[in-house]
Amino acid sequence: MTILNAYIKEMTDNNQSVLSGENAFKLYDTYGFPLELTEEILEEKNLKVDKDEFNNEMESQRTRARNARSESNYMGAEENILNKIDSGVETRFVGYSETRTETVVEIISKENEFVHSIEQGEEGFVLTEKTPFYAEMGGQVGDTGLIYNESFEGEVFDCKKSIAGKIVHVIKAKKGQLKTGDSVILEVNNERRQNICRNHTATHILHKALKTILGDHVNQAGSLVDKDKLRFDFTHFSSLTDEEIENIEELVNKEIMEAYMVDTQEMELEDAKKAGAMALFDEKYADKVRVVSVGDFSKELCGGTHVKNSGQIGMFKIISESGIAAGIRRIEALTGVNALKYMEEKTDIIKEGANILKSSEKEFIRKLTSVVNELKEKEKEINDLKHKLVAGAEDEILSSMVNIKGVNLITAKLDGVDTNSLRDLAEKLRSKAKDGLVVLAGISEDKVNFVAMASKEAVSKGVHCGKIIKEIAAIAGGGGGGRPDMAQAGGKLPEKAQEALNKIVTILETLIK
Ligand SMILES: [Zn+2]
Repeated sequence: MTILNAYIKEMTDNNQSVLSGENAFKLYDTYGFPLELTEEILEEKNLKVDKDEFNNEMESQRTRARNARSESNYMGAEENILNKIDSGVETRFVGYSETRTETVVEIISKENEFVHSIEQGEEGFVLTEKTPFYAEMGGQVGDTGLIYNESFEGEVFDCKKSIAGKIVHVIKAKKGQLKTGDSVILEVNNERRQNICRNHTATHILHKALKTILGDHVNQAGSLVDKDKLRFDFTHFSSLTDEEIENIEELVNKEIMEAYMVDTQEMELEDAKKAGAMALFDEKYADKVRVVSVGDFSKELCGGTHVKNSGQIGMFKIISESGIAAGIRRIEALTGVNALKYMEEKTDIIKEGANILKSSEKEFIRKLTSVVNELKEKEKEINDLKHKLVAGAEDEILSSMVNIKGVNLITAKLDGVDTNSLRDLAEKLRSKAKDGLVVLAGISEDKVNFVAMASKEAVSKGVHCGKIIKEIAAIAGGGGGGRPDMAQAGGKLPEKAQEALNKIVTILETLIK
């Protein structure tokens, strides 16, 4: 434990005998290092932990987590009209066993006001005596579906809980009018709900699988369960290896295939804890709790909706694993048909790739590797050829040499030449031109590179490559400079390269004494 060792060193260096509660908590929270173990190790060195401070840190962490959860679970405070609802109003959840329920409309609100009816085209909140709609809670999204009777049709597009815990349907009236006191049928979109259930039960199995494979320090730090995927955040100090991910997937799928009955039981909190049910360490629970068991594999306190049998999950596939904060990892995964579709997409990619490479799927990777290697070789070949082409241009360029006040000036513009080849060529030309100045412009893609080289004799006559290059690069939208005998620059306006080269004669005339 290098972090703890660092703390110990710091303490001995500063002559301290007590580890701060903040650091002890960091070890616990971020690195999954139990307090007892920290104490044990410190004791061997006659050091202690500030336990009071540790407990304070723990308490404030719990409060933070609780607040963060309630904010996301409940409707915002701005819907304060719903907070004025009489506490005697009951909105009973019957959705564990039913997805279609006949009930009575108790309260309608619209634009933050209580109303007696809602008309076609309007949006509002509807509360009913009982409901099969699950309100967003514990990471599980709210149900959607229909609300209707003989003279009214509406769509429930979300379901949330008010701060007072009332179940609120967020609806849009599609046809007719709905009044308080009306009888209505509430019908949950069952296909969507089933997908949510698959993901929720899979989350419980995943939680237990993570504890089994990674260790007991793994704790749920958050989760999101909707119709498309599941997201699970947990405490763990390093990213998962490919092997760990494979092992987790395999264990989860194995438990799915066991086709366990998913059982729910109401019991006293103490009994649930005795039975070994996993609970969020920072959550406050009521005395009566609901325990969801997936066979003998997982037992967890949970208010969410689940499949009846783990076999209904069908299939589980992790699609990403990442870190979201120090010591907190996030897994995203798919279940059922969504997982199947994901695997099919992957298979299609391999199939398509193999087709393009005209190879079998089995030979795909070997073929791809050889194509990539071949490409690298070709690239090298092309570069060598370019080099040779540039070298061949030597004589032609030399023939354009002019003499300015006793200095032999050689200029040339070359297409598709990199700076290295440009420098090589300039050097060769310089050695061939006595009293010479060579300035080359290499055009590549959307820029121009200049290289200037002058012989000793030319420099002694006043030639200064740095000064020349600075002035001509400015014409081509760039800058640069260098020594009297050698300079280099780049410009963003390749179309101005020739104009820049033409300017050299004038510059030379002023430079040469
Ligand atoms: Zn749950």
